[in-house]
Amino acid sequence: MKILPQHPRAESIRIREEIVKHCGSGAVVLAGLIAHGRGEAFDYLLGEKTTENAFKAIRSAASTLLLAKHSVISVNGNVAALTSKDIVKLANTVGSKIEVNLFYQSEKREKAIKQILKESGAKEILGLGEAASANIPEVHSDRRRVDSRGILKADVVLVPLEDGDRTEALVKMGKTVIAIDLNPLSRTAQWASITIVDNVIRAMPILIEEAKKIKNEKPKNLQKLAYEFNNSGNLGKAIGLMTHRLSELAEKGIYIPEVTEIHDHLEKRTFSLEEDTD
Ligand code: ATP
Ligand code: MG
Repeated sequence: MKILPQHPRAESIRIREEIVKHCGSGAVVLAGLIAHGRGEAFDYLLGEKTTENAFKAIRSAASTLLLAKHSVISVNGNVAALTSKDIVKLANTVGSKIEVNLFYQSEKREKAIKQILKESGAKEILGLGEAASANIPEVHSDRRRVDSRGILKADVVLVPLEDGDRTEALVKMGKTVIAIDLNPLSRTAQWASITIVDNVIRAMPILIEEAKKIKNEKPKNLQKLAYEFNNSGNLGKAIGLMTHRLSELAEKGIYIPEVTEIHDHLEKRTFSLEEDTD
């Protein structure tokens, strides 16, 4: 589909097309499209930009990843479709492993995601085929299989876009979980140790930049940045920002001058028609 750059929602449509394309390649499943739509709805409420609040979470996440002994970035279909190059860049910057971890697992899907990651420069990819043979106790599903070289032994796991049951399971195993999730009300957002309430597409490049900036800081300074963060307060602020934005919009009304002009014109025409028929 040709997307005109001047279209007011050009970027959003471009991202949507990318997800749909990878639905064709088999990397993204239909449930992934629904998850994307849910994310888009929350991005509307957020104003489709990275907030100062999200930036604070990103800084804490960057420090936590740099302090980790064994960090892993968990990749699913949507993540591979939307941000695979940045996943590889981040892994190289902070020294994380990359593990494919799917809710709806199939050989075809794994292959498609492996292909995307390889094309993006990933050298080592965990969690593929028989390598994902370790089980972790998950709350409402028995499907959680992870790689014993990756998520199973990780101290820090980054889960950009994850399901709540899995996040809960990881936290209950004692892992520090960093989530990127546009919905501050999701169980993932609530269970994670650090939740970046932002679009994964915007948050990933900032996370990489931030990690590069503070990479050579002393561990003491990194610890300060990592622990000065409170996730429950962070989520409260994210909800507050959405509420505030909605209140402002409700007060001033949604106003697009062109729409108002057209409606005024139609109204006048309708009334003059009524006058004519009298
Ligand atoms: P949970 O299981 O955590 O309670 P859920 O069942 O509502 O959440 P899932 O489908 O399990 O949602 O997970 C998808 C999550 O990813 C949603 O919370 C959605 O808002 C979020 N999401 C989707 N696309 C993006 C994106 N591009 N950037 C950030 N978050 C996104
Ligand atoms: Mg879910």
